[in-house]
Amino acid sequence: MKLHAIQTGSVRIKTAQVQAQGRGLRRRLRVFADKHWTDWLPTYAWVIDHPEGLIVVDTGQGTHLLETAHSLHPYVRWEVMFRIERDQEVGPQLRAMGVGPRDVKQVVLTHLHMDHDGGLAHFPHSDILVSRGELQVARGWIGRVRGYLPNRWPTWFSPRPLDLGNDAFGPFPASKRLTSAGDVIAVGTPGHTADHLSVVVQDHGITYVLAGDTSYSERLMVAGEIDGVSADEEVARRTLRAIRDLATDRPTVYLPTHDPESADRLSHRRLVAAAQ
Ligand SMILES: [Zn+2]
Repeated sequence: MKLHAIQTGSVRIKTAQVQAQGRGLRRRLRVFADKHWTDWLPTYAWVIDHPEGLIVVDTGQGTHLLETAHSLHPYVRWEVMFRIERDQEVGPQLRAMGVGPRDVKQVVLTHLHMDHDGGLAHFPHSDILVSRGELQVARGWIGRVRGYLPNRWPTWFSPRPLDLGNDAFGPFPASKRLTSAGDVIAVGTPGHTADHLSVVVQDHGITYVLAGDTSYSERLMVAGEIDGVSADEEVARRTLRAIRDLATDRPTVYLPTHDPESADRLSHRRLVAAAQ
């Protein structure tokens, strides 16, 4: 098995989104009041080159995100900025690696925020998996009110709703195997969104966590610092704790979507530090 990081452009958000400022409603309003932007952060998609077939985790950004400044949605319009060129989308980058659209067996989405589902159009032939609750929240006009962009989904998009079973995987109470070998597993990591999931890959004694937006960096996960947009603070904290417990229990490489160190951490198999 081989894991690859693909950077699909970059994004800037408010610092109060990356790390919570205050609590409760005030914490969520701070994202809008904050005048401070992060540096440009990478947006990664992941490729699992698995003997049972290629799996892509998240599809990254698309060039349509360059139009968000015209959106009617206040978050989309004012609280996020994107940078991406067409050949930085996930499809062209896969083709440069010799991977065509028919070569990708499964696409798994950690959640449906616009910088994770932005490359869906490149996967018309793949089996696409999205957690059932996330799909319900993101679709239709009500999804748009919530800041999702279902209007940008390809017309053929009808993902397979993924229901995590009650089989615990380590500290995660809900999980589902994505391969017959049982070495690629979707685990529930609620917080950033209520039905957010992460994909765990076990290879040669190392556990890789493709963590989506569970946290914006490894440092924040280790510190147990939640973000500014999670709906339920306790749920989000519990998820960060579970990842820390996993990393204490076994050698773990933690790979959040927007951590500038994720690609480097993957290529050097750098383990979660606090756990060592
Ligand atoms: Zn997100």
